[in-house]
Amino acid sequence: MGQPESKPARFPQPGDHIYCRRKGGLYDHHGIYVGDDMVIHLQGAAKKLGALPACHKCGDKRVENGEIAKVCIDCFLDGETLQIYDYGVPLPEFMNRKRGTCCLRHSKPPHEVISAATGFLERNGFGSYDMFANNCEDFAVYCKTGSAVSYQIVGHIERVSAAGPAGILAGAAVAAAYGISKAITGAKRHN
Ligand SMILES: [Zn+2]
Repeated sequence: MGQPESKPARFPQPGDHIYCRRKGGLYDHHGIYVGDDMVIHLQGAAKKLGALPACHKCGDKRVENGEIAKVCIDCFLDGETLQIYDYGVPLPEFMNRKRGTCCLRHSKPPHEVISAATGFLERNGFGSYDMFANNCEDFAVYCKTGSAVSYQIVGHIERVSAAGPAGILAGAAVAAAYGISKAITGAKRHN
């Protein structure tokens, strides 16, 4: 949309929130890099990525099932380019960046981020995957900051709203649904 793409990726450090494009850029997939070439992520809902044999490195079966999983970085990226999500971005920069690439809030220290992601993995405790209320970006942002907001979704709502009066209504309906289910899933979360 005329906005600059993310900065070229540096090598991820344990505790970094990483993401890559999926489905030719239709959406991005997010996870927490925990070191040793491994990523903890919230997988999408019941979508087969391909009839491939399980990964020999991490055992990932390339099936998205709405669960929190630990996979190797190759399975996470699935051939796409690694990007690193930025935290503590100043407001003017945030406004100019593509939604779903950075966050105004600051990250917790890396060891706290990793222990949050690991805790969710052990309990499989982030609720079921929901494109609007509980998605992979929410999971990663939640691990990084202790609360969740999906800027990728906010970006979609902004684009819908830019489509005119009908778009504004649709956007408001999406935002309302998002807010309501957010409150419900938020209440169920324990950290
Ligand atoms: Zn793998």
